[in-house]
Amino acid sequence: MTYLETHKGPIAQWGKVRRHGAQPSGTTVLHTYEAPHVMTLNQAAMGIAYRHDRPASYHLLAGDDSARDVLPMAPWSAETWHETSTNNWGTGISMITYAGAWKGIPAKSADNLVKSAAYGSFLFATWLKANRGITIPARRITRAQALARVPGFIGHGEIDVGRRSDPGALFNWALFLDTYADLMGGAVTFTPSPEEDPDVAFTPAHSDQMNDIRSDVADIRKWLASIDQSESKIQQIYDRRTKFDQVPALVAQVAALTATVNTLAKNQGLDPEQLQAAIEKALGDITLTLTNAKD
Ligand SMILES: [Zn+2]
Repeated sequence: MTYLETHKGPIAQWGKVRRHGAQPSGTTVLHTYEAPHVMTLNQAAMGIAYRHDRPASYHLLAGDDSARDVLPMAPWSAETWHETSTNNWGTGISMITYAGAWKGIPAKSADNLVKSAAYGSFLFATWLKANRGITIPARRITRAQALARVPGFIGHGEIDVGRRSDPGALFNWALFLDTYADLMGGAVTFTPSPEEDPDVAFTPAHSDQMNDIRSDVADIRKWLASIDQSESKIQQIYDRRTKFDQVPALVAQVAALTATVNTLAKNQGLDPEQLQAAIEKALGDITLTLTNAKD
């Protein structure tokens, strides 16, 4: 299941059936989400599902955690709303960064965002080939071609000229197309074993399996992150214990100090009861200081 199928917000962010009887044509529009690259895919997905101002959505989000960091938002067959003139037959893929940030973010993040977008495009192309028999070549298309439903890739800013600029002038198209071509090359040279029917290779079932594996990997990643957290909790407790272990030594020092003060007071002819009260008050202050020190 894709994200928007299971997360229903205040307004519809996808249409199960494309309007006007349209079908996905392979015209693929690349976007940037216009948020910091450190935003997680889940946060970005929530931002789409639960916004209440207007429809604005994509088929897939691409992140920077790895070269295959993707979150499918809606079925490829469905319509999402990312580019006004081509929504009906287009497919929208959005990378979590700003159009103007490609040189300002870590090189590894930029690399992963581009490669993840290529990987998401590969998943779409695999589905499109299996379900509609259309191949998306590793090429950029013009605005006129996008409007004519030609399969290929185009930036949002190249269609919605003057209003939008994403994915940005410095988006690495060469890396995107190379990565996509490599992934597609792998699919083309895929040789099924003799028992398998070549016609069922890379079917939606394969795609589902891949989604399952990705979701398992995400779960494991989450689990590992939670272990990291417990380790740091244990470290905190250990640190507190270490401080706490110093308390008996301090108490002994205070007792020795009390005895010394008592002796000095007796020699100076002071009232022992008044002195005791003063010491207890001082001890109270010390206890308070220790309590604070533990935090
Ligand atoms: Zn856009």
